[in-house]
Amino acid sequence: MITVMKFGGTSVGSVEALNRVAKIIANEKGKRVVVVSAMSGITNFLVSAVEDVKMDLNDVIKTFREKHLNVAKELFSGELYDEFMVEFEKRFSEFQKVILDKEMRKDPYYADNVSSQGERFSSLLLAFVLKSMGLKSVALTSEMAGVYAVGKPLSGSCDLKKTEGGLNVNVRLLLDDDIIPVITGFYGVNEDGKPLTFGRGGSDYAASAIGNAINADNIQIWTDVNGFMSADPRLVKNAVTLTEMNFSEAAELAHFGAKVLHSRTIEPARLKHIPLWVKNSYNPENYGTLIHHIRGQRKEPLRSVAMKLDLSIITITVGEISYKPAFLAKILEKLSEAEIIIYGISTSLSNIALLVHNLDVKKSLALLHMLDSIDIERINVRSNMTLICAVGDGLLNRTGFCGDVFGAVKAVGASVEMISEGASDVALNFVVSTDYATEVVKTIHEKFVNGVE
Ligand code: ADP
Ligand code: ASP
Ligand code: MG
Repeated sequence: MITVMKFGGTSVGSVEALNRVAKIIANEKGKRVVVVSAMSGITNFLVSAVEDVKMDLNDVIKTFREKHLNVAKELFSGELYDEFMVEFEKRFSEFQKVILDKEMRKDPYYADNVSSQGERFSSLLLAFVLKSMGLKSVALTSEMAGVYAVGKPLSGSCDLKKTEGGLNVNVRLLLDDDIIPVITGFYGVNEDGKPLTFGRGGSDYAASAIGNAINADNIQIWTDVNGFMSADPRLVKNAVTLTEMNFSEAAELAHFGAKVLHSRTIEPARLKHIPLWVKNSYNPENYGTLIHHIRGQRKEPLRSVAMKLDLSIITITVGEISYKPAFLAKILEKLSEAEIIIYGISTSLSNIALLVHNLDVKKSLALLHMLDSIDIERINVRSNMTLICAVGDGLLNRTGFCGDVFGAVKAVGASVEMISEGASDVALNFVVSTDYATEVVKTIHEKFVNGVE
């Protein structure tokens, strides 16, 4: 029995937190593979060091060192501390080299390299806490474990097949010897041997990919709330924890904004039907949420609602585009050149509306302008848009449910700017102006989650 246990930034963010999760790991039966995020605040700090040219890099190095060493000094002493320091200095000199090397700054994967450094130190700390408890443990970077990634800078995907090979060579033998590997989350190694991150929050996805590649029996995502909830608890005060969800429900919500899981966490687990748990490292006794392939019977029309901010609708007008399927294909092909993610599509006789991230609008327009301008009559952009993703079972079969939801949206004073219903049988997605988004989420939650007896 193999369990992959992933701990997020707050779960490894302090001496107390590290001690707490070490106990959780010690209490878990069977073979364990641990995956960690950087200590909370560290990745943001490293990202600002990359982006803010005014930051003094020597200060960055000093702060980074102190933050980790202060924790180590509280946790370890004697021989264990000395042993820790040997490993620490090895990683630290590499960190310094990466940050200070002017040549590396020109590398397209420089930001990936710097921002993924935090995981190398949190994994080391946790492995040594486990050792201090008498457990056998070793800290592995993604390079050492054999976690492989493909894709563009800051948006890698895990190469599951290659990672399976990597873990079989580098991790499986450790498990056979009852050694607990503590692996860096957030990134894999690309074909040039460079760190490539999976996007912010990517350690959840890394854990799921590692679970897939090692053929785990369970994947546990340990965080700071009791499980996957009916809405973001910071937004909706009376959000409730769901005890169980199916892969489709969780995947739609994670993709469309539920921050508790990285947007791509579900797929690697789903591919091998590995149950994925979301649990609270501050409250380990709590059951948490089980996400699996079984589709249970539901009473309530809506299970959970999420929102994805910072989107824009690009509407392209081409006379009778419906009769020009080749041109429609060309539009999508063009956008795919820059790997632009389309969060929604809606068509009419002469228009196609595409929902993309604000940051992709400029790039999309430049690509669209490369198409034959005679065909395109007009391109219009509406920014400040938010997608609301409402997930429930059999939404399509509930007569009048859409009407009820849109009635609630109207009551808030918002108008529905775009709709996607029917593509997924568990999700109803629609777009509203960001000005109304929070109110819409609260109202829908109140009416269709809390309001149901
Ligand atoms: P970690 O550092 O463990 O990866 P994150 O901060 O990335 O933790 O994710 C956990 C947070 O996600 C919670 O504290 C909560 O505020 C937020 N969140 C947003 N949507 C949901 C949801 N539907 N269910 C639970 N938590 C959610
Ligand atoms: N440390 C990374 C981040 O903050 C990855 C993660 O926490 O999942 O984005
Ligand atoms: Mg997270």
